Amino acid sequence: PKESEDNLRSPICCIMGHVDTGKTKLLDCIRGTNVQGGEAGGITQQIGATYFPAENIRERTKELKADVKLKVPGLLVIDTPGHESFTNLRSRGSGLCDIAVLVVDIMHGLEPQTIESLNLLKMRNTKFIVALNKVDRLYGWKTCHNAPIEKAMKQQSRDVKKQFETQLVQIITQFKEQGLNTELNNMDKEMRETYRIVPTSAISGEGIPDLLLVLTKLTEKTMVENLTYRNEVQCTVLEVKVIEGLGTTIDVVLVNGVLHEGDQIVVCGIQGPIVTSIRALLTPHPMNELRVKGTYQNHRAIKGAQGIKITASGLEHAIAGAALYVVGPHDDLEEVKETAMGDMKSVLSRIDKSGEGVCVQASTLGSLETLLEFLKTPEVNIPVRGISIGTVHKKDVMKASVMLEKKKEFATILAFDVKVTPEAWKLADDLGVKIFMADIIYHLFDQFKGYINNLKE
Ligand code: GDP
Ligand code: MG
Repeated sequence: PKESEDNLRSPICCIMGHVDTGKTKLLDCIRGTNVQGGEAGGITQQIGATYFPAENIRERTKELKADVKLKVPGLLVIDTPGHESFTNLRSRGSGLCDIAVLVVDIMHGLEPQTIESLNLLKMRNTKFIVALNKVDRLYGWKTCHNAPIEKAMKQQSRDVKKQFETQLVQIITQFKEQGLNTELNNMDKEMRETYRIVPTSAISGEGIPDLLLVLTKLTEKTMVENLTYRNEVQCTVLEVKVIEGLGTTIDVVLVNGVLHEGDQIVVCGIQGPIVTSIRALLTPHPMNELRVKGTYQNHRAIKGAQGIKITASGLEHAIAGAALYVVGPHDDLEEVKETAMGDMKSVLSRIDKSGEGVCVQASTLGSLETLLEFLKTPEVNIPVRGISIGTVHKKDVMKASVMLEKKKEFATILAFDVKVTPEAWKLADDLGVKIFMADIIYHLFDQFKGYINNLKE
């Protein structure tokens, strides 16, 4: 164990939560304060992910006097908050996010997307910490810039403390209703079965030191095995993006291993495996140079865990949520191609073979997998007969229309976070195929249930 502790990679952290709880602001706050501290060179905003070196975390948490001997090299925080990056951080059905921050607005408590996030976290069995954000909104809050939360609390009036207690108790109760035990974070306490709540302000920075400390301490304490660096490349596609001057690029998270310029890679594509070579491995310039928009730093090689933008030809049909494979000198290309497509096949194979069910369409392999898992749960239990990735076209409507004669309610497309072409809408109208669209899984379910109940009446 001693040996492996010296060879840990950075934990990968996602930020989840309801809209407007302060997810983006929280990221800004962590980054911003480091820049103001004159360490601009130290932090590099990566693509799709921000890398916080351990030195910065040590600096930010020193007021906590926690004797921080961090063993991890840093923390890799995924920049695009929300479900999409979380669901795409996957590998063969299991999650690659080591730990998540679930942001809750202290004035609002649990909201619909908080609950959706909770369900995703439960489904993937991912540990998380609750950031109880916007404490500065408590009436009469005295600002203590970037202070540890205990210190900030001591400065508050009795009335503010009372408001805080009231909100906290309410929110703990709401979590209980979701079947989860939560408790105010205490760094000195073992809290095995309990999720930690860290009060924060993304505006004035109170509680941010606590959040950083708990993230790093908790991961390196409980996840040594998972965080032990491995040479074998483990890499997943987070986003497929067209960038002016670069063409179609993929933003990936390299969890383990090293990628090199010129490496031959295989990625799962909508129309089959994509075999190509890495033209460039890019990260943005360090923070202070970010104003030079659209410029990136080139790397010969990058070691995980890191977020990277890859340029290469032929990436147009790459699927987010799929793994990226490197073809080594001793590898058989055909085998690698098969492996790359195998993951998608295994997701496809989860659908009901009986031939009765709805059609499901999602934007990425990650969200498709999540949606299928959800539809399968006993409380939901909606059979699926067809699935597809990307925009809903006429042919998808045709496919769904097959059910019209057998079971009308299943002549339905559940479209998750994808577009529907006007022609497809028109055809669906003409044929009597229902299309439900949503970007929250639960909304799709509610719409469909409502529709079925209507039909029954
Ligand atoms: P997101 O949708 O979760 O990414 O939320 P944003 O980061 O965009 O924040 C939503 C709004 O809440 C913005 O107007 C922020 O300035 C504000 N906000 C975020 N965090 C805080 C906080 O800690 N305190 C206060 N007072 N406002 C906040
Ligand atoms: Mg945001």
